[in-house]
Amino acid sequence: MAYEPVWMQDPSKLNKFEFVKMEKDGLDVIRDIIETYALRGYESIPEDDKGRFKWAGVYEQKPKDGYFMMRIRINSGIMNVAQARALADIAQLYGRSLMDVTTRQAIQYHWLRVEDLPDIFKRLEDVGLYSYEACGDCPRTIVGNPLAGIDPNELMDTTALVNEVNDFFLLNRDFSNLPRKYKMSISANLYNNAHAEINDLAFTPAVKEIDGEQVLGFHAHVGGGLSAKPFLAKPLDMFIRPEEVLKVAIGVTTLFRDNGFREKRHQARLKFLIAAWGVEKFQAQLEELIGKFPARGDDKTLGWQAAYFDGVHPQHQAGLHYVGLNVPIGRLNAEEFHQLADLAEKYGDGTLRTTMSQNIIITGIQEKHLDTVLSAPVLQRLTPFPKPFMSRTVSCTGNEFCNLAIVETKERARRVAEYLDARVPELNEFIRIHFIGCPNACGQKHVADIGLQGALVKTEQGMIDAFDIAVGGILGPNARFNTTLKGRVKGDDVPHVLEQLLLYYKQERHAGESFHTF
Ligand code: SF4
Repeated sequence: MAYEPVWMQDPSKLNKFEFVKMEKDGLDVIRDIIETYALRGYESIPEDDKGRFKWAGVYEQKPKDGYFMMRIRINSGIMNVAQARALADIAQLYGRSLMDVTTRQAIQYHWLRVEDLPDIFKRLEDVGLYSYEACGDCPRTIVGNPLAGIDPNELMDTTALVNEVNDFFLLNRDFSNLPRKYKMSISANLYNNAHAEINDLAFTPAVKEIDGEQVLGFHAHVGGGLSAKPFLAKPLDMFIRPEEVLKVAIGVTTLFRDNGFREKRHQARLKFLIAAWGVEKFQAQLEELIGKFPARGDDKTLGWQAAYFDGVHPQHQAGLHYVGLNVPIGRLNAEEFHQLADLAEKYGDGTLRTTMSQNIIITGIQEKHLDTVLSAPVLQRLTPFPKPFMSRTVSCTGNEFCNLAIVETKERARRVAEYLDARVPELNEFIRIHFIGCPNACGQKHVADIGLQGALVKTEQGMIDAFDIAVGGILGPNARFNTTLKGRVKGDDVPHVLEQLLLYYKQERHAGESFHTF
């Protein structure tokens, strides 16, 4: 029997994009792109379908003159060499060789034309990759532990679980019209490699004694998300066995689909439903839908490493290593990506892995090959041993390509990191700096040690780029968002202001104090 969502009962309250979604499912646009728009060109695309392009993983690029950006979903960030080469080929053929690693482990292209999209979809499908539903009001890329399967610090390998949940939701028309975007994470890493608290639904490692046996499983957290009103996900009082993860994911997503708010788009994320209901009511509704679960067990999240892996590290498998590379501000070119794929094939286990810190890992390298890998020309720029600030600077796309951006971010972030690396003496700790170009927070500013959010200020010369600065964000057991400081800093003054802030911190910090324990 077809479901009857609560929102269908009172259409007078819906925001106008709900009617666009009701008129035609977002997923239908994929067929229209292939059969119609790619043949007839950019001018043939109606405005409503441009909005639906997100379900194909495609956005219009700034300044809306015929070019598009596209995100490719990569489960847990893990891709094989054939997939990596296909991604690099697409960038070379259609995307001016530009490849961005996003904060959700996706690969993002720019400069695509609608005529290119059918071939890109096909090239992706040929290697088992998809851009579909990487954007839109649907279950998006499921982030996970990029070290899954090789991680000395994971409770279990979550690769297959992420794939299972992804395969269920991808192109599933029962869930292709949610109130708003919907983000999941599944990781059993003890250091929160998938940033659980900022997802709509997150699974984190847990253990519970059941019938005298220590059972490995998960805790679930619901209602996290950033943007203008950030929320940390709240834990449900449930212990979930690995084989029940999909059932819980279906239950939570169903509750969101049928009860999430569809009146105002800026209040439609799951976090607003959780805030309105309270987590207890949400859990009661969930258990009514999918049955009772045992109460929480022992939480196994020990801390947060912010998904940084730079350097050479031993794997779970004796004798093998992974090498975490720094991709400055998450941007590399297709030739570099090809060279990384070559290294992974020749000296590694044939996979590349993207991280939520916008970096890349090569895995499965034997001791005897480490020197060869480390001396590879491509690792001279994408170095495993980056300078401190360049290693910990994250940036969203900004106004170079993003229509929502207020300011430029990516190149500015690179210049700021270079400036600080040249000017700030050793701090004996890494300071994570995140830039975002608008309140949507794709660069996850709220969880940074220093978060910079783009804004404008009025000067005698007119409106110019500026930033609000916030300090002290952290996830993990002591999770909290950063606190915005008073005042707004002109874009050109950001390097100097951050330098002064860091020098003051270095001088004034107490013994044992770190940047997020003040
Ligand atoms: Fe665009 Fe804003 Fe997201 Fe940056 S944070 S990529 S400016 S929507």
